Amino acid sequence: MERYDIAIVGGGIAGLSMAKFLAEKGIPFILFEEHTNFFMKPCGEGIIARVLGYDFYDLYGSKEGIEKEIMETNIHTKYGILTLEMPIIMTDKKKIEAEFARQAEKQGEIRMGEKVGDIKNGTLLPQKIKPKIIVGADGIFSIVRKYIGAKTPRCGIAIRAYSNEVELDDEKCHVIRRDDVVKYGYAWFFPKRKKWNIGIGSGKKKFFKAAYQKFRQENPNAFEWKGAYIPLDMPIKSYGKNAILIGDAAAHVSAAIGEGIMPSIIIAKIASDFIEKAAKKDYKIDLSLYEKAWKEAIGRYLKRSYYLKILFFSMIRSEYIRYKLLAKMCKEVTKYYRRIMKR
Ligand SMILES: Cc1cc2nc3c(=O)[nH]c(=O)nc-3n(C[C@H](O)[C@H](O)[C@H](O)COP(=O)(O)OP(=O)(O)OC[C@H]3O[C@@H](n4cnc5c(N)ncnc54)[C@H](O)[C@@H]3O)c2cc1C
Repeated sequence: MERYDIAIVGGGIAGLSMAKFLAEKGIPFILFEEHTNFFMKPCGEGIIARVLGYDFYDLYGSKEGIEKEIMETNIHTKYGILTLEMPIIMTDKKKIEAEFARQAEKQGEIRMGEKVGDIKNGTLLPQKIKPKIIVGADGIFSIVRKYIGAKTPRCGIAIRAYSNEVELDDEKCHVIRRDDVVKYGYAWFFPKRKKWNIGIGSGKKKFFKAAYQKFRQENPNAFEWKGAYIPLDMPIKSYGKNAILIGDAAAHVSAAIGEGIMPSIIIAKIASDFIEKAAKKDYKIDLSLYEKAWKEAIGRYLKRSYYLKILFFSMIRSEYIRYKLLAKMCKEVTKYYRRIMKR
């Protein structure tokens, strides 16, 4: 039986950023990714540049895969366009994931095309590896989550495509928040360097199919349509047995907008700090301290986003009142980013 202290299951943004942070601390790990290539799950590829006190560039440590920096998002509603000033980095997510892996490989081992099929008594199968800590970064259908017995988060669904034919201002991101486009969700048009990342998502599957079909008809020349589930729930319990969870596996997503990249990276950083401490005690450490640490840093942000989702999408029926609320939120968020971007 091979011996590794840390095994990461899943090589998406959560697992790969975790691997990079461990590598920087000189902590060896092994990571298993079932696909032979990176970025197999669709995404809007937009990253909020600053979340709470965290800066994406500081965490990432590279400019590889950065396509565009956008300061303004236009939110198209039934009652007019609202403008939100918030720094969004448009990326080539495949390159971002590959770069995280490149930085991580200095210290650890990444095994692509190798699926962890099961976990029994702390042993990954069929690999027959029994690590001291298993990091479940294995996304929405996490087997590590199943192993620790945590609940499955409630999900929404989203589909992404690419287009060369969008007639909108390509220096801005565009979000369409109208019930006649999609209920309980939104459509997006995000400009990349040479094409657009477009898509549509909803928190309620029963409203999604018809909205998606209409959106697809309206964008006949878009290509590479691909969909996935997205956890839009309160984060779930993120530790148990000898394992911790990060990213979609633990619903580390800002549920109101479906933003999971920065929360995953931030919590991966916190998890790596926790593992560094645990290593000094030969991993004889209470794993609940990991959950305490990420909750202190970003728990309120995720909780607030979840309640906002409930308020916005389930409780307020009037589209006009939602528009007024959104206008107020846009103003507040704009004010916040104007202030912090000056620093
Ligand atoms: C259509 C869509 C658009 C989105 N747009 C945005 C956006 O613009 N900005 C944003 O911030 N967020 C966005 N999100 C959310 C964001 O993509 C996710 O929250 C984030 O990518 C989660 O990363 P992850 O690493 O936790 O999960 P994943 O990206 O799902 O990675 C999990 C990895 O684990 C691997 N895996 C799973 N099981 C096993 C196993 N048993 N053995 C080995 N490997 C395994 C999978 O192959 C996968 O590579 C979007 C989501 C969707 C669906």
